[in-house]
Order: sequence, then C-alpha cells, then structure tokens
Amino acid sequence: MSSMTLPYQEPLVPREPGRRQIPEPPRRGEPGGPPCAICEGKTTRAVWSDDNWTLHAPVGGSLPGAVWLASRVHVDSFSDLPEEMQADFGRAAARVERAILALGDVARVHLYRWGDGGAHFHVWFLPRPLGMVEASGMALPVWEDVLPNVPDEELRAAAERVAAAM
Ligand SMILES: [Zn+2]
Repeated sequence: MSSMTLPYQEPLVPREPGRRQIPEPPRRGEPGGPPCAICEGKTTRAVWSDDNWTLHAPVGGSLPGAVWLASRVHVDSFSDLPEEMQADFGRAAARVERAILALGDVARVHLYRWGDGGAHFHVWFLPRPLGMVEASGMALPVWEDVLPNVPDEELRAAAERVAAAM
C-alpha cells in the first residue's frame, strides 16, 4: 500500500488519544442507548433482501455503488450470528462484491465492519474507484468522507443497479 495517500496536505501532526471513556457510551440498539434504527425501519429502504439479509443505499455519501448489508436478526457481531448465517455471510458478501464490480470503473470492493455506531450487525461495502490508487487500504473511507457528497438519489440509483445484479 505504498501508494496510499490521505486526502490532506502534509505534514499532519499526530495528537495524543483522549481520556478513555469507561464504561463506553451506549450504542444505538443496545440497553440504555437510542433505539435501533435498522429494527425500527428508520434507515433507507432495502434495495435487495433475502431470508437472512437486507441491502441498503447510504445517505450523505460520495461514492456511488457503496452499500451496506444488514442481518435481519438484531445481533451485534459475527460471533452473535447463528452459525448458518455466519456461513451464509460469505455467500452474500461475494454476491454483493460481484454486483458492485459489475458497475464498472471499480478497482476493488472494500468491506468495513466497525460496530461502533450501532449494535445491529451490518457491513459496509465501498467501491474503490478504478485508478484511484491513493485511496488504497484505510485511506478509502477517509477519502469518502472528504470528497463532495453526491445526491442521495444518485447513491440510491447506484445501489439499485447493484441490487439488480445480485
Ligand atoms: Zn436492530
């Protein structure tokens, strides 16, 4: 990843991490936290679904073709999924990856599972634009944040093209 470049002028100045917050603030969808937006249907409507998963477009993003895949069941992470869904995740992820690549002009599909915002299992799929080698690796979500947002309708239309190729 020698070509990876952050979308900022250098030099960046390292800073010290803040004080640790223990216990951590509750996330969406866990006891004491705000309700789960996925279970409450407050997210973007699914563009694709099957018995185990729903696929959604982002809002306020800069990379058309980005989607997130959520479990139908409210569980937190991989280790909380029933075993058959753990196995099925690989199959579903491969289908999403193939469908995003079919959009064209995509070099690679990145997967991110953070888990820090909400307690309902979901994984982000971000297309790294073909030729945009400076956005390799961990630089892609940072570039995604800095690049100008495209209209939500455009993100939705791209996600629907992904869904159609599933
Ligand atoms: Zn939920």
